[in-house]
Amino acid sequence: MRLPVYLDNNATTRVDERVVQAMLPYFTEKYGNAASRQHEYGWSAEGAVEAARARIASLIGASPTEIVFTSGATESINLGIKGIAESLEGKGNHVITAVTEHKAVLDTIDNLERHGFRVTRLPVEDDGRVDPRDVEEAITGQTIIVSIMTANNEIGTIAPIAEIGRICRARGIAFHTDATQAVGKIPIAVQSMFVDLMSFSAHKMYGPKGIGALYVRSSRPALRLVPQMDGGGHERGLRSGTLNVPAIVGFGSAAEIAMREMTADAEHTGRLRDQLVTMLMTELPGITVNGHPSQRLPNNASITFGGVDADRLMMGMKDLALSTGSACSSATPSPSHVLQAIGLNHEEVRGTLRFGVGRFTTGEEVTYAAGRIVETVMKMRVPQNYSKTEKV
Ligand SMILES: *Cc1c(COP(=O)(O)O)cnc(C)c1O
Repeated sequence: MRLPVYLDNNATTRVDERVVQAMLPYFTEKYGNAASRQHEYGWSAEGAVEAARARIASLIGASPTEIVFTSGATESINLGIKGIAESLEGKGNHVITAVTEHKAVLDTIDNLERHGFRVTRLPVEDDGRVDPRDVEEAITGQTIIVSIMTANNEIGTIAPIAEIGRICRARGIAFHTDATQAVGKIPIAVQSMFVDLMSFSAHKMYGPKGIGALYVRSSRPALRLVPQMDGGGHERGLRSGTLNVPAIVGFGSAAEIAMREMTADAEHTGRLRDQLVTMLMTELPGITVNGHPSQRLPNNASITFGGVDADRLMMGMKDLALSTGSACSSATPSPSHVLQAIGLNHEEVRGTLRFGVGRFTTGEEVTYAAGRIVETVMKMRVPQNYSKTEKV
């Protein structure tokens, strides 16, 4: 067992060894520019990019021409939301999102607001779900974009995307979803979810960092985006810049593996996540699991430890790699906006840790981690004489 035990798979994942092997030739042998049309180096790079594109499209039920490569989900979100906002500016100026979105979405939409757009930020239920009726009620004649994430990165709650998508489609409103935590972990189908734009990233699904994709619907309805990067006109003019061929190949390989192993991964991570939660619940009074009880990612658990400061708890367990709810979404740590939105008070927010198991997590690691957490929480709680009856 390697220490620290890695339980932060919602922040990023280890690159699968098979993905690394697929990438390697594209650094030193097949290193051509995919836009070089005059020689074999260029052709083989382009062929590899198109094969990867097809695999990624297939994972989400899209066609290859609907996939635009970017540097990651943050860039996809910026291109998708700003690109469609600029394109539809004549049609309306209202945007709907939810308070629990990732900073990449919230900050992008703040930016639109500074440029004159009106924004509705919907609240969520205590389980973290956006009510589709709230989306419907928020729509005005001016609404041009709805952006609601598929699965939350802190608490793992999965949104009723198909219902929200159906509402948007019926009103002719562009629907973007940040599916970074969902793609590769749960089945995704852009058609039956009525999604027009979808952002996701390779490094959350055992692929390399710095490569992502934006799905852009090409028919019924076809979307037109205004590019946010000027240059050589790569990616059908939507995202200029020389393609990162090794990373794209890795992304394609990760997508192909996810396609075949998603069910097995979900069973494996679900079992380990449940094992961890059960061990903690059995040994420790005063803990609660946040998010939706069933509509949740298989690999994630957000747990509030009553009467404990999560930062201090982590300091006492340097042999575990974990995060508080807030750590991954921003470089500047502040109390989690997601945990606040689902009704946790200040103390509960401060007592919350996020656990993310993954494809490579073992039962031995989970048993070790649970033991360390129980031991450390008990030690920290002693002075307060914490009891099960106390309200947390
Ligand atoms: C990680 C993450 C992002 C950002 O992805 P990058 O590829 O790091 O830019 C956006 N949204 C969600 C939900 C995420 O989990």
